[in-house]
Amino acid sequence: MIIVMKPKAKAESIEKIKHLIESKGLDAHISAGKEVTIIGVVGDKSKLQDQNLEIFEDVDKIVSVTESYKLANKKFHPEPSRVQVGNVTIGGGSLVIMSGPCAVESKEQLLTTAHAIKKAGAHILRGGAYKPRTSPYAFQGLEEEGLQYMKEAREETGLPVICEVTSLEAIEAAVKYVDMLQIGARNMQNFYLLKEAGKSGLPVLLKRGLSATIDEWLNASEYILAEGNPNVVLCERGIRTFETATRNTLDISAVPVIKEKSHLPIIVDPSHATGVRAYVKPLAMSAIAVGADGLMIETHPNPSTALSDGPQSLNFEQFDKLMKELSPLVALMGKTF
Ligand code: PEP
Ligand code: MN
Repeated sequence: MIIVMKPKAKAESIEKIKHLIESKGLDAHISAGKEVTIIGVVGDKSKLQDQNLEIFEDVDKIVSVTESYKLANKKFHPEPSRVQVGNVTIGGGSLVIMSGPCAVESKEQLLTTAHAIKKAGAHILRGGAYKPRTSPYAFQGLEEEGLQYMKEAREETGLPVICEVTSLEAIEAAVKYVDMLQIGARNMQNFYLLKEAGKSGLPVLLKRGLSATIDEWLNASEYILAEGNPNVVLCERGIRTFETATRNTLDISAVPVIKEKSHLPIIVDPSHATGVRAYVKPLAMSAIAVGADGLMIETHPNPSTALSDGPQSLNFEQFDKLMKELSPLVALMGKTF
């Protein structure tokens, strides 16, 4: 349920309602917009059944929120959210590029990649230190050693760094080294992990599950938000369909749907969505055209020797060319790069 206040509602009217909500054991989330303030109620709203909130001073109307996700809901927070990652803002008027290797393989591999993507204009360095691989025999990541290299890469380049976490131990290690946590597609409904990421204090990139609906994805984000962490960015990375020509099928419509339903920023990952280097550019362009707030693109010094996801990774020259090609489209969409 949300309580929409009249324009220029008095602070004491808002405070009175907040107090009433909290006295019933519910949470009140206040979103003060340019014109109106909205009070979102989270919890068992039947506890407010005997209250006629409509007649409270400065209340305009009561709107019920039928969706099960509340904090992620645009009705609760009509203004788009901005998420700060180091010195980079995701969700403002810019198009944020996260790039780097699928897996951190060595210090040299990561540092050369960090310098190359920075030179090409990327904003955030990605790199996997904990790799949730389909096969238990495939390279599983350098773990804490990889996180140390991520930190060193940030110190050398000034780029904020993001790393996927797959367990509580990984979160506890990662908070010491990185600026943003990533919850991967395979863990989107690992509710324990979502809660722990919510408690970490770091911004979280939440990838869409392989077979998750948008509703399930937004409910997963709600787990992080409900821990008091408002800094969640969504990432569409393709979903499983009957099509086998690409690794996954990029659900490009997820971007406008999310923009309609939620205030959270959304980025697109054309690398994992397609699994094919040649399709990264067209889908990156489509993501910008539908209003994504950023892109995640895998890069590697020598993709043919990559320990994971080589076929979808761009080398530095290809990445630099892509950034130049995307630039006019970014400007056309009224965004900065
Ligand atoms: C990744 O970003 O390296 C990754 C494993 O992605 P996803 O969870 O989308 O498969
Ligand atoms: Mn990968």
